[in-house]
Amino acid sequence: MTSVDFPKHKKAKALKPGSRRPAKELCSECGLCDTYYVHYVKEACAFINQQFETLEQQSHAATRNLDNPDEVYFGVHQEMMAARKQQPIEGAQWTGIVSSIAIEMLNRGMVEGVVCVQNTKEDRFGPMPVIARTPEEVLAARVNKPTLSPNLSVLEQIEQSGMKRLLVIGVGCQIQALRAVEKQLGLEKLYVLGTPCVDNVTRAGLQKFLDTTSKSPDTVVYYEFMQDFRVHFKHEDGSTELVPFFGLNTKELKDVFAPSCMSCFDYVNSLADLVVGYMGAPFGWQWILVRNDTGKEMLDLVEDQIDTQPVMSQGDRKAAVQQSIPAYDKGVTLPMWAAKLMGVVIEKIGPKGLEYARFSIDSHFTRNYLYVKRQYPEKLEAHVPEFAKRIVRQYKLPN
Ligand code: FAD
Ligand code: SF4
Repeated sequence: MTSVDFPKHKKAKALKPGSRRPAKELCSECGLCDTYYVHYVKEACAFINQQFETLEQQSHAATRNLDNPDEVYFGVHQEMMAARKQQPIEGAQWTGIVSSIAIEMLNRGMVEGVVCVQNTKEDRFGPMPVIARTPEEVLAARVNKPTLSPNLSVLEQIEQSGMKRLLVIGVGCQIQALRAVEKQLGLEKLYVLGTPCVDNVTRAGLQKFLDTTSKSPDTVVYYEFMQDFRVHFKHEDGSTELVPFFGLNTKELKDVFAPSCMSCFDYVNSLADLVVGYMGAPFGWQWILVRNDTGKEMLDLVEDQIDTQPVMSQGDRKAAVQQSIPAYDKGVTLPMWAAKLMGVVIEKIGPKGLEYARFSIDSHFTRNYLYVKRQYPEKLEAHVPEFAKRIVRQYKLPN
């Protein structure tokens, strides 16, 4: 038997559930180590080996042009737009563009399976990664599970099933590890549909966030940090609860985000073929980034189901970002009346569209840069990519 028939990784053993992962406390539980692909962890793990340039070249046949400010912020892309489904999918996170593309790909036989994440029977937010083979199984995965999710834990099943054409839906750290092992999966074609991701939490961390922030944590079915600077909680009875960002209990919540997410610089999912989020779009719309021809092929499938409009940009984020850096650092929490007032003012005059996306990227990258500098100084230079260093350099940071 040749090494091609029996690649080395098949001799490796998945790590035991709950055992310490190679990335230690920085592990985002992406799932790779739950499979024999753990064999590649030292090169593949997003928190051990930062390799955006190599993987961008492999995925898009191009790297970010650092002279192009839009690429510095949003990564390699051919096209950006705002979009929404004419008939939104009920219960989807936004209008369900992600689920709709996955369903079209299955219906047209472009892929045999879709890696996505449903929830466990016991817990609506408990992640349960699956390989969906029917539209019903894709639909059952709609809406965010706002916790770390081991999506790549199903990778061994792909090889065993003999599937050759696959769609993977996932967030940045999962997609970085996926791209690093892509050539070992034995696929003829891999499609990658990504979402932006930031401030993720463990399941316990999610409970702390809900308990600290919502008036009725047990009935929350969905939440999102919206472009109107408020967290929107949707409850079982259909009601919506709004909490201004500036009223969040920063002191209590400071340690709630996973260390992996506090040291992540892949907010915009740089290695996906197509990215569907919301933060660069006007309120109520989704934000689409087509990174390469494969991404375009995927978006074209739902062309007749969506309305689109060009992206816009309005306002100037810089002063707000600069002011928020020491405020977050000191864990300042405003009284609710002041937070509401500030929310109203910022919504009126604050950044919108792409400028809102830049506001969010700047705020998170400066915070994460400080975190890595303080907690893992020995990793700072190699772990923070050049595009993120450029973004951070625009601001004055505390020590
Ligand atoms: P739907 O049709 O409802 O499908 C959602 C898909 O997400 C499903 O296929 C499911 O498999 C997948 N999914 C759910 N939970 C996870 C998970 N934990 N890990 C991996 N995949 C998952 N967009 C922004 O613009 N800015 C943000 O700051 C931002 N933060 C996010 C944080 C998290 C943890 C997640 C999962 C997404 C985030 N997004 C963010 C993306 C955004 O919230 C929507 O998911 C996206 O716009 C798609 O909406 P939709 O209605 O098309 O998705
Ligand atoms: Fe393994 Fe993924 Fe954790 Fe890295 S982030 S240690 S690849 S499970």
